[in-house]
Amino acid sequence: MSLNARLIKESFALVEPVAGRASAYFYGLLFAHRPSLRGMFPPDMAAPRGRLFDVLRRVVRELDSPEGLTSYLAGLGRDQRRYGFSPEHHTAAGAALLATMRRFAARIWTEETEAAWSEAYAMASRIMIDAAAAETTPPWWLAEVTGHEARCRDIAVLTLRPSQRMDFVPGQHVPVQTARWPRVWRRFSIANAPRADGTLRLHVRAVPGGWVSSALVRHTRPGDQLLLGPPAGTMAPPESDRDLLCVAGGTGLAPIKAVMEHVIASGRRPNIHLLFGVRHAGDLYDMPDLTRLAAGFPWLRVLPVVSDDPAYQGLRGRLPDVVDAFPSWTGHEVYVCGPPPMVDATVRRLRRSGVPLARIHRDADPERDRDRSDPTETAGTPDRFLAGFESKT
Ligand SMILES: Cc1cc2nc3c(=O)[nH]c(=O)nc-3n(C[C@H](O)[C@H](O)[C@H](O)COP(=O)(O)OP(=O)(O)OC[C@H]3O[C@@H](n4cnc5c(N)ncnc54)[C@H](O)[C@@H]3O)c2cc1C
Repeated sequence: MSLNARLIKESFALVEPVAGRASAYFYGLLFAHRPSLRGMFPPDMAAPRGRLFDVLRRVVRELDSPEGLTSYLAGLGRDQRRYGFSPEHHTAAGAALLATMRRFAARIWTEETEAAWSEAYAMASRIMIDAAAAETTPPWWLAEVTGHEARCRDIAVLTLRPSQRMDFVPGQHVPVQTARWPRVWRRFSIANAPRADGTLRLHVRAVPGGWVSSALVRHTRPGDQLLLGPPAGTMAPPESDRDLLCVAGGTGLAPIKAVMEHVIASGRRPNIHLLFGVRHAGDLYDMPDLTRLAAGFPWLRVLPVVSDDPAYQGLRGRLPDVVDAFPSWTGHEVYVCGPPPMVDATVRRLRRSGVPLARIHRDADPERDRDRSDPTETAGTPDRFLAGFESKT
């Protein structure tokens, strides 16, 4: 490990246990020196504060693997374009970060530590700024809601038409902002393979008290405009011709459906088993569509699984147990998406039964069920956009 990396890790280890106070201090300083930046963040700063340390933790952890770190930082830089972050903002954030580390790691802070952080920040911000400058896709897309179907108590399927072409890989997700909650972004998986008319579908569950999900499910109508950020995520369709096992919990069905649609459209003919798990039979929100998909592709078997409804006549149980009850999936390519505990338990069972990790594709984001993402995740949108943001919400 280089001296610089060691100094950064040692000082960060002192600050991490007081991350809450340190991030409050960071944003306090940032806004005190650059009050105009406050307008780029949402009213509730809990998420950006939490996310600041998520990012720092990841960067510090990856200091010794420059390749992974560079690609992570480049992704952050590209994503930050949707907030209108400029090189100037990076300078202000760097000064606030250094002051924060200096204060909370004062016990061991030296000139060398200061130089190590300063150099690392300069390197990181350069990668982010360059990646943002090199990106040619739009920083955000306006999208019109062209369809809004309430599928069950708390789930709606939205169809969106972006104003410009948006390329994405089946399995990816997009950040979404509604006019009801300016500057608040949440991610939702794209639930279809790319279509000729460019439309996207989202499967949204309104979580109790949820800002964005409730706005999308209960207060959004056709004709409304949403704002979408660049698609992201590493889940992608298989390159092999192996049979597929797809395990979807609730709206975890969305990215899996996109992958299945892509495989079906590719002309390949693998057998696909879809285990679609929900708590109550009434939550099987996409059965008519799935049945239609299976009717046109006889190699697809859709198996709804219900966990908390003793009266349900079909497959009952928790998804990890049901997956385990089948003879063997070792020859399959596997896709798993849903609440993290369900995904973790399913992956553990599959691994134990001999499915190689390389063949298990999961939505790698541990925050899927509780989206608290990058500072950027809830940071603002350029005013020039907000000024023109029309919605009927
Ligand atoms: C990569 C990724 C993909 C995602 N894809 C989808 C998708 O396709 N469909 C979808 O519906 N959601 C999806 N999510 C979750 C989504 O991004 C939001 O986190 C979720 O909609 C809640 O946001 P909110 O603003 O409504 O709630 P918030 O205002 O953030 O939270 C309000 C309250 O609800 C709690 N809460 C937040 N999320 C949940 C939850 N999931 N269950 C129970 N309580 C919760 C919070 O702790 C808080 O107390 C995805 C998340 C990630 C990270």
